[in-house]
Amino acid sequence: MTEEEVIDSKDLDYKFRYEISEKVGAKSLLKCIQCGVCSSGCTVTEYVDLQPNRVVASCLLGLRNRVLSSNSIWTCSLCHRCTERCPKGVDYSFILALLRNLAMKEGYIPEEYRGTIQTLHKNGFVVPYTGGLAKNIDRRRDRFNLPKIVPPDLKELESIKIETGIGNILKEEEEEK
Ligand code: SF4
Ligand code: SF4
Repeated sequence: MTEEEVIDSKDLDYKFRYEISEKVGAKSLLKCIQCGVCSSGCTVTEYVDLQPNRVVASCLLGLRNRVLSSNSIWTCSLCHRCTERCPKGVDYSFILALLRNLAMKEGYIPEEYRGTIQTLHKNGFVVPYTGGLAKNIDRRRDRFNLPKIVPPDLKELESIKIETGIGNILKEEEEEK
């Protein structure tokens, strides 16, 4: 028998569904009929702790923390199959992208992505473009007559850090040092 999880009604966030749906517009999760088609065709279904239709149901029920801490948000490959097949036109893959941003802002981020955030913060790339690796990349690009890589202006990345919540994660890490 599976253990039942008891959730206190005061821990539910009844506005959560509207917070998401107002950003999705006509393809809102409010139209979901829980048919499960999104879950049956999901390409990463065996790796997630909440199936797509359960994520939608949890959003509708106001289980904010449960949704934002779910690995489903990060495991999605953004293949868009769920969105293409949904009979009610719910844009689940876009909703997941919104949930990623929200999760990031509220500090729910898998450990394995923290290193990537630091790399992005320090040199503007998700893969380190420094030292021997940079020389190697440059050499290969020269061989194919490709133009030199122009490092991004780190100041221009500031607005992305604020918008995505990356800045909050970096601040937390600084404070922990
Ligand atoms: S396919 Fe669409 S309507 Fe069906 S459960 Fe998924 S989101 Fe809801
Ligand atoms: S977009 Fe994500 S949730 Fe939708 S089917 Fe693809 S992997 Fe699954």
